Amino acid sequence: MATKYDRVYNFNAGPAAVPLEVLERVRESWFNYQGSGMNVMEMSHRSKEYDRIHNDTIQRVRDLLGLGDEFHVLLLQGGASTQFAMIPMSFLGEGDTADYVNTGSWSTKAIKEAKLFGDVNIAFEGSEVEFTRLPRQEELKLTPEARYVHITSNNTIKGTQFFAYPDTGDVPLVADMSSDILSHRFDPMRFGLFYAGAQKNLGPSGVTLVVLRDDFAAGANEALTTMLKYATHIEKNSLFNTPPTFGIYLMGEVLQWVTDHGGVEGMEARNRKKAEMVYGFFDEHPDFFNCPVERDSRSWMNACFRLPNEDLEGRMIAEATRSGFVGLKGHRSVGGLRISMYNANGPDEIEAVLAFMKDFMQHNG
Ligand SMILES: *Cc1c(COP(=O)(O)O)cnc(C)c1O
Repeated sequence: MATKYDRVYNFNAGPAAVPLEVLERVRESWFNYQGSGMNVMEMSHRSKEYDRIHNDTIQRVRDLLGLGDEFHVLLLQGGASTQFAMIPMSFLGEGDTADYVNTGSWSTKAIKEAKLFGDVNIAFEGSEVEFTRLPRQEELKLTPEARYVHITSNNTIKGTQFFAYPDTGDVPLVADMSSDILSHRFDPMRFGLFYAGAQKNLGPSGVTLVVLRDDFAAGANEALTTMLKYATHIEKNSLFNTPPTFGIYLMGEVLQWVTDHGGVEGMEARNRKKAEMVYGFFDEHPDFFNCPVERDSRSWMNACFRLPNEDLEGRMIAEATRSGFVGLKGHRSVGGLRISMYNANGPDEIEAVLAFMKDFMQHNG
């Protein structure tokens, strides 16, 4: 297969594919970033050059998500997993309750951390429907005085995604958007806080984007250790200590790429098209490709499916890898297969993997 630089078709779930144009741009500046005589990773995080990269990246987040002045944009470390703890640590005190919507493995991990700090009400228990769909509004058991309602906007492992977020009245939504941020448009005003590890839709691992609304941030517990307190990072513009400078630079380049490709609206059109191709293909061949997720909940980012038996699944994954289609194995906790198709993957790559899958079916069906 003739691809540029002999690159594979990369369907990794995370860390995941980065747009080739971004990698090429970064390569151009590898030895000397814009006349600085240095690679970005060699620069002081207190330098003028780095300051511009840092602020440009933050500004691109603001522009792409349409964030007003009431939002703080933070670039932290520790992954989404650290946010699982930092959020309840900051917003749950003695006697406070938070509602958590459990829609899969990542929600379950967030719930485990929250229970260390306050009362957790499970507003929806997805295991009761084997995580094959998201809750309907009327199924949610919300607490009127909850500090926040936590959701996982895209369930990377189970292959479900929210398109309309739950109505939580006056209670702010908090969302783990690690695997679908910038994949479709949404109204940020619905959220008190949302966060995302960068390694799916934003670039490299090592950067965690956290967006907080001012009024929500104002209610945070301040009696916390410096690095785990949002106020520290808000006051210092995420420069209290050394930030992951190279990752932030790369993320800024990915955001520029998104902007150049129509912004979030452009990504939304691209992702809708990809999802229609993949799920349309599954639905055309239901005896061979079985997607367990209910239609309305199917993720545009991670399409999970099973073949008639595990032997066929193993063979498809092995054959795919030999043919240059990488990352199709489902998460070890659920088995099966998964096509992770974040923003960086285009319809051409989807077309190629579906052609491979069709051929495999014809030889093994
Ligand atoms: C990948 C992922 C995580 C894990 O993030 P880390 O940055 O590894 O902590 C959390 N939540 C979701 C929804 C994910 O897809």
